[in-house]
Amino acid sequence: MKSKFSRRLQELNNDEKGRRWIYVPYDQVTDRIGPLAKMPPEETGIVLVESPWKAARRPYHKQKLALILSNLRHFALEQAQRGVAVRHIVSNGPYSLGLEAQCNELGPLTMMEAAEYELRVDLAKLIESKKILVLPHEGWLTTVDQLMAIQTKGGCYRMDAFYRLVRQQTGILMEGANKPTGGKYSFDSENRQAWKGDPEPPALPQFLVDEITIEVGDLISQHFADHPGRLDLEHLPATQEDADNLWQWAQQNCLTNFGPFEDAMSTKSNSLFHTRISACLNLHRLIPKQVIQDVLGCDIPISSMEGFIRQIIGWREFVHKIHVVTSGFRTLDSTKTESDKTTSNKNTFDNGAVVSHLGADNDLPRAYWDYGNPSGMNCLDTVVKAVWQDGYSHHITRLMVLSNIANLLDVSPRQLTDWFWVAYTDAYDWVVEPNVMAMGTFGVGDLMTTKPYISGAAYINKMSDYCRECQFDPAKNCPITRLYWAFLDRHKDKLAGNQRLSMPMNSLQKRSDTNKAEDKIVFERVLQTLKDDKALARDIAIF
Ligand code: SF4
Repeated sequence: MKSKFSRRLQELNNDEKGRRWIYVPYDQVTDRIGPLAKMPPEETGIVLVESPWKAARRPYHKQKLALILSNLRHFALEQAQRGVAVRHIVSNGPYSLGLEAQCNELGPLTMMEAAEYELRVDLAKLIESKKILVLPHEGWLTTVDQLMAIQTKGGCYRMDAFYRLVRQQTGILMEGANKPTGGKYSFDSENRQAWKGDPEPPALPQFLVDEITIEVGDLISQHFADHPGRLDLEHLPATQEDADNLWQWAQQNCLTNFGPFEDAMSTKSNSLFHTRISACLNLHRLIPKQVIQDVLGCDIPISSMEGFIRQIIGWREFVHKIHVVTSGFRTLDSTKTESDKTTSNKNTFDNGAVVSHLGADNDLPRAYWDYGNPSGMNCLDTVVKAVWQDGYSHHITRLMVLSNIANLLDVSPRQLTDWFWVAYTDAYDWVVEPNVMAMGTFGVGDLMTTKPYISGAAYINKMSDYCRECQFDPAKNCPITRLYWAFLDRHKDKLAGNQRLSMPMNSLQKRSDTNKAEDKIVFERVLQTLKDDKALARDIAIF
C-alpha cells in the first residue's frame, strides 16, 4: 500500500519531460541557494534519496531521524508544488546505489558539493565517472584558502585568527578595514553570566504536526524502535515555513539575552536563550548568509550580536574547513581509522579517524546512553536526560559537562564523538569530528585549540544550578574536582609547557602527595563504578 506521502507526491508531481536534473542530498533541502535557486522550476527535476541503510548505520536519536526524513519528504512536496519534477527514491544501501540507476536513466545529475565526508566518499565513483557533476556548495561563507591563510608555522589553526580574518574580509561587524564594531572582535568576557532565574527563558515554539510528519513518526517508531531518544513531533520543524517561523521566534525571543547568558546552564531550561536553529542551519532550511543579515538588522546589544555572529562565521565555518582540510583528521600522521564492520568489501567507508593525543581509550559510560541509569552526578544526568529528550543541548553543556566529564575519565575521543554524532539533531561528521575529537577532548592535541577544556566542580557550580540539587557538595565532596586534579597529574608530561595551563599546573605541583594519591583513587573508583553501570555513592570522594 502506498504511503500518504507517496500519494500526495503523486498528486502534486509534474511531467518529467525536458528537465535538467539535480541531486539534492538530505542536508541541502533548500531552493534558496545552488542550482535549484537559479533554474526555472518547470525546467528542473530533482532526485531525493531516502536511505534506511544510512539511518540504521548508527543508533541515531529517533528525533534526528524524524527531522531529516520529515524535512526531506516535505521538501519533495514543496518542490513539486512549485512546478519541479520530483523523483523520490528509497535505497536500502549507500546513496550511490540508488543514484547510479537514476544517472543512467536521466543523464548526469548536478549537485552542490556534499558537506559530509561520508557522502563525498559514497559518491566518489559517480563523480569520477562524471555521472554526477559537482558545483561548489553555496551555503558556506568562507573558503579553505581563508583557513590556510591563518595556519601557523607549526601547522595549527586558531579560531580567533580565522574569525578576525573573516570579519576583515567580509566587513561583517566592521567599521573600517581594521576597526571592529564596538572596538573589539570578541565580547566573550561580557558573555559569561550565570542565569539566576531572570529574565524568563522563552517557551519553545510548536509546529503543526501534519499527516506527513505523523507518518514519518510512525515509520521511525516501527522500524527504528531500538534507537534511543524521544520522538517529539510538536517541536520538530519539518517544513520551510516551520524553519522560518523558528528563526522569527529566535530573533524576537532569544537574541537579546543570548550573549550575556550563552555560557549559563540550568535544570530549568535546556536551551535558555540559545536559538536552537543549528539543526535547520545544517539542513540548509535556513541559509547562514541570510541569518547573518537578519541578525545585523536586529536591535540587540553588541555583546549578543557579536557572540551570535561568532558562532556562525567563526566556529561553524572554522570547524567545517578544518574537517575538509584534514578529511575528518584521517590525514594526520598519528591517525588510525576504524574499519567499517557493516559494509566490508562493498565500498570504501570507514568508521572515522581514531585519535587520542592523551592516550585516552576508556569506554564511554552507559550513563551517557541511558538516563534511566544515572551516574549520580546531577550535572551529567541532567544534560544526558535533556539530550535524549530533545536531541539538543547547548554548546557549554556539550563542552563543559559532557566532554569535560568524559575527558576526566579518559574516555576514547572517537567513542565520545560518535555519541554526539548520534545523539544531537544538528550533528554530522563535519560538526562532531572537529568539535568533539579536537576541541572537546583535545584528541588531536593543539591542532585547533590551545588546551583541553576541563574543569572541576567550581566552574559548573558558578555557571549552573545543577549543584543545588546534587547529592554532592561542589565545595566539599564532589568527585569532579578530584577527577580534575587526577587528570592533570596523569597527563602532566604531555601538558607540561602549555602556557594556558600554567596556573593549574603550578597548583598541581603544590598539591600534597596524599591529596594526589586520593585523587587517583577517586578516579579509579568512579571509573569502576560507572563501568559497573552503578551510580556514584555520596561518599565516593571521601577518605
Ligand atoms: Fe556536578 Fe559536582 Fe555539581 Fe554534582 S556537585 S552537579 S557532580 S559539579
